Amino acid sequence: MLDRRVAAMSDFTEVFAHAAHQIQCAPVKITTNRRWVRLVGTRHDIQYWHPDDARIPRLFPFVRPFVPEKIGAGERWIVDILAQAQNGHNILKGVELFVPEKLYTDHDTYAHLAGYQIDRPQRPKPGADGKFLTPPEWDQAPNCYKCNVAFSFTNRQHHCRNCGHSYCTNCTPRLCQLPEYGFHNDPQRVCDACFVKLNEYKTLKEIIVYRKAKVVQVWNIEEHGRRYFRYCVFTTDTKWCLTDMKPTHADTATWTAFHRFSASLGHSYLKPSYPHPSLTITRNLSSLADGLQVYVPNRFLRGLIPDAILDEYVFWQETDDSLTGYLIKEIRDKMHTQTVIRVELLKDKNSLAAVARISRRPLRGVIPGVAAYEELPQHPVFLKKQAEVEKERELKARLARESASSSGGSSSVDASGDSKGEPVTPKGAPPPVPDKQKKPVRSSCLLSVVRVGDLITK
Ligand SMILES: [Zn+2]
Ligand SMILES: [Zn+2]
Repeated sequence: MLDRRVAAMSDFTEVFAHAAHQIQCAPVKITTNRRWVRLVGTRHDIQYWHPDDARIPRLFPFVRPFVPEKIGAGERWIVDILAQAQNGHNILKGVELFVPEKLYTDHDTYAHLAGYQIDRPQRPKPGADGKFLTPPEWDQAPNCYKCNVAFSFTNRQHHCRNCGHSYCTNCTPRLCQLPEYGFHNDPQRVCDACFVKLNEYKTLKEIIVYRKAKVVQVWNIEEHGRRYFRYCVFTTDTKWCLTDMKPTHADTATWTAFHRFSASLGHSYLKPSYPHPSLTITRNLSSLADGLQVYVPNRFLRGLIPDAILDEYVFWQETDDSLTGYLIKEIRDKMHTQTVIRVELLKDKNSLAAVARISRRPLRGVIPGVAAYEELPQHPVFLKKQAEVEKERELKARLARESASSSGGSSSVDASGDSKGEPVTPKGAPPPVPDKQKKPVRSSCLLSVVRVGDLITK
């Protein structure tokens, strides 16, 4: 059966909400940091990743410190807009800023900066006499302090050496050096909450400064299944932001005219992005290798794709990096016209920016044997399959016509085993018109949005 931890994760329930309780799985590969399982009968794979505590995203290509002595003559506007945005608000508290090697100029429309927000550990302090602290007493609870599972002979009780609470094996996978208690040699077992408190964290932030609009946006970079994703945490002007954030930011500072339309992810935008377990969900609903899709949680698209779209669609990434959005079930059931959203990246090798073309496309008919791709009118797999199916259909129709004319009968078309649901072609009638000719598909370009930054950092 599926691991309880996996079944409880939000990414899992979002994809398998309707069937989560009946899913069985078979292991594909189990290593220290990854549990890779195949979900039986669903063509989905799940990889559960333990957080990699040692890994932090690199700052490259942001190599030049952004300090007054080192900025170029044309970079003054960046300093001015940033200063205005920071005025009275700690939106970049303790973040040292870096920019790419190449100098920005007065002609640039935006500037892209990055830096780490460093959160220092809150370690217990040894007494003034340098003596070790007394470790906390171990509590003897019947259930795990975190997940509440009952302890038994097979499900053993462990203790966090920093707080003393009881945990099951799953809830205390982490070790940490605790010299303040006199444990000098081996790392000790600690709970997740203590691990977070005891260690230093570096959260990579990206800052985008728009020159004309005088807008600053702050993004956090977060690890998810050994890839990095970004999400918007703060903007000085909601008008220039594709995600709806709460109009609350720095706690008590008065709102200047500059900040009147600012918004953030509540008060949590300054919180470090701690390493945590993550799920990679992949599926291949076609029989072809390039039909593999990776689930992209909507929280990693907030700010890149308008919220109005994210509220109605669930996104999967194709092997060519483009995204396909499928209507969520509740909406799909209500709609007369079914659509998909296609997000194609137009990358520019010479800059950090990438633009995406987001288009909504109507569905075309169902292609027998590739139910999954019925929703993907322009997908290469779909087109390939469709060509095959149409070829086959033509061949069958021709054979049927030939046999009909040779035998002189009138019912042989029906007997030729044409795909079910296909209208029976009357003798002498032209072969069935492919759906394409019946209903021309028009794709409407909604927006050309994502201004800055790759959609997803690899
Ligand atoms: Zn537990
Ligand atoms: Zn603890």
